[in-house]
Amino acid sequence: MAIHRFRALEEVMTRTPVKVELPSDKVSDFFGRHVFGQDAMRKYLSEEGFGSVMNAINSGTKIDRKMAEQVANGMKAWAMSMGATHYTHWFQPLTGTTAEKHDAFFTPYDNGRAMETFGGGQLVQQEPDASSFPSGGIRNTFEARGYTAWDPTSPAFLIGSTLCIPTIFVSYTGESLDFKTPLLKALSALDGAATEVCQYFDKNITKVTATLGWEQEYFLVDTALYNARPDLQMCGRTLFGHPPAKGQQLEDHYFGSIPERATAFMRDFEQESWLLGIPVKTRHNEVAPNQFECAPVFEECNLAVDHNQLLMDVMEKVARSHNFRVLLHEKPYSGVNGSGKHNNWSMSTNTGKNLLSPGKTPKTNLQFLTFFINTIKAVHDNADLLRASIASASNDHRLGANEAPPAIVSIFIGSQLTEILEDLEKRVKSGKMTPDEKTALKLDIGKIPDILLDNTDRNRTSPFAFTGNKFEFRAVGSSANCAGAMTVLNAIMADQLLIFKKDVDKLMESGVEKDEALFQVLVDYIKKSKRILFEGNGYSDEWKNEAKKRGLNNFNTTPAALDAYVKKEALALFERLHIMTHREQEARHAIYLENYTKKIQIESRVMADLAMNQIIPTAIKYQKILVDNVSGLKNILDTKDYTKVAGPQLEIIMEISSHVGTIKDHVDTMIEERKAANVIEDHKKQAVAYCEKVKAHFDEIRYHVDKLELVIDDENWPLPKYRELLFTK
Ligand code: ADP
Ligand code: MG
Repeated sequence: MAIHRFRALEEVMTRTPVKVELPSDKVSDFFGRHVFGQDAMRKYLSEEGFGSVMNAINSGTKIDRKMAEQVANGMKAWAMSMGATHYTHWFQPLTGTTAEKHDAFFTPYDNGRAMETFGGGQLVQQEPDASSFPSGGIRNTFEARGYTAWDPTSPAFLIGSTLCIPTIFVSYTGESLDFKTPLLKALSALDGAATEVCQYFDKNITKVTATLGWEQEYFLVDTALYNARPDLQMCGRTLFGHPPAKGQQLEDHYFGSIPERATAFMRDFEQESWLLGIPVKTRHNEVAPNQFECAPVFEECNLAVDHNQLLMDVMEKVARSHNFRVLLHEKPYSGVNGSGKHNNWSMSTNTGKNLLSPGKTPKTNLQFLTFFINTIKAVHDNADLLRASIASASNDHRLGANEAPPAIVSIFIGSQLTEILEDLEKRVKSGKMTPDEKTALKLDIGKIPDILLDNTDRNRTSPFAFTGNKFEFRAVGSSANCAGAMTVLNAIMADQLLIFKKDVDKLMESGVEKDEALFQVLVDYIKKSKRILFEGNGYSDEWKNEAKKRGLNNFNTTPAALDAYVKKEALALFERLHIMTHREQEARHAIYLENYTKKIQIESRVMADLAMNQIIPTAIKYQKILVDNVSGLKNILDTKDYTKVAGPQLEIIMEISSHVGTIKDHVDTMIEERKAANVIEDHKKQAVAYCEKVKAHFDEIRYHVDKLELVIDDENWPLPKYRELLFTK
């Protein structure tokens, strides 16, 4: 039996904040204590071992077996000194969560004795029993199982008494089965391509690293209320619920003081994060009630992705001990602001330079302009691919719905940069620029970032915005693994930079001087990609029309958006960069479609169950009270009085019957549609059927259930209401 909402509410009323004590007032005293990072490695590894791990991190060199043995021993000694008893390979399968399989360090041997063992073999490679992870058909039973392999670029860490080793997850035939493998390949492709382009400006640049700083939005809800909402439990979002009288229209939650219980939770999960070396730094309330955000200092992209996955795990774990549940879903409440995960992205060099930050000299400014315009071109040419990278059943509720950001990919760069690009185009068109003109132009660029870094000049409605020294990809979903978006973004940038290098070299070979060649190619790119630049209100209907005129796509469902992944151009791009083969890409496409279908299928089942088992029975019980009342009145009153007195009750009785009837009709048809969809074999067709035929009933069912919520006696309504979920502290 589901817990009735009153019992849940009673429980919430008795809550007090959990006391949280930090190990020290100074975070630097304990930051990274649970990580086998550089300090621990220095202590537990030989100089040689330390050097080989650092080389693997910095230049991607392989660690040989002998060295791996040594590293494993050091890692084990460190972990055991911290109380670890088990170890696990930690990986990111395409289900969207993280996976682990724990093994004990101890190995029994003869005479009933045991010994703690953990060698190079166990560190480098493992075979998880992975047959239940999605593989899109790649890892069928004949090919046996996949294996996980150590990723030395992300340090091992401790969770409780388990040593966690970040790994990739691939099939025996070498195909990637996770988020991390293609990401690492995309990052390496970007490094190669960007470093070559940097050579035009600075010969000292030998490595380019993509950087990522994510901003994680989430909702908190009390565990008792959560447990009384089967839809939250099963789907992570509410399928029913009438909007409260007071929503977020007053916007008094944003930047208001954080409620005490939530603060205690934040202190606790931040402490856990710091121990794990996750540099979380800011926390604040978000727009909606009970919505919050946390953001770290940016890091190298692969590490940042791992840290975000880890943070989501840590949040969920810590929340439970504070009697909260974290809702990472993009749209837990209809009519209330949704959650995203802004991905702030840039590139930095081994010389310590941010490539998207204009500097003080003409040379660095031309370098900035090069990377800036190439990003615009990459996004323009691959907008559909970028859209595909953020597609999911849950993110569909934000993208393309009447909320930010739209499903149309566009770029905001601010008025100053717009002017500079226009100016550049004009000057190059009107003939060769004088050296003085070039210098003046390059210097102008140096003035931009200050203005853009100032928050007030930013456009919040853009899905992809330049914010002074980085691009901010805002359309990523709050529950997503950042790796999906980051793989595509870094891949398309790598590809674009290779094209750029070729274009510039060609001009230089024909005798054009370097600066002039750079300018000419950049101006050509501006012309070709400027239709993707948009400075106005991205939420408006005018933009939808305008975008259509410009020929920009607007895919507002996942099955449609995912097509871009298997278009000829995309397959070729991933292949030439050695990020993914056609087979891997197609398998991934199938998995994403299947994930979509499953999500909608679950929602549809929960919706039907709730409607039939909770809502309609409650409606009928209340209707019976009214019916009894009416027939009682009929017994004691004369006809004239009776008609007068029983009128309102009769109206409600009829209204209830009408809603119940419509709900039942839609539930029945929806179930029929589900049956039909379930037997479709083609992944794409099945996902489309779920999207267009099954999901099509959600709004109607919800509408009538929410209407019933308004007429039925509050005492009887079983599900915690929106005002209780959002405002109970
Ligand atoms: P906001 O966008 O809310 O104004 P900030 O400008 O401080 O906030 O930055 C937001 C996020 O951008 C932070 O997570 C920060 O670490 C990240 N960030 C800043 N610089 C870079 C960079 N060069 N590369 C990647 N992320 C960055
Ligand atoms: Mg931001």
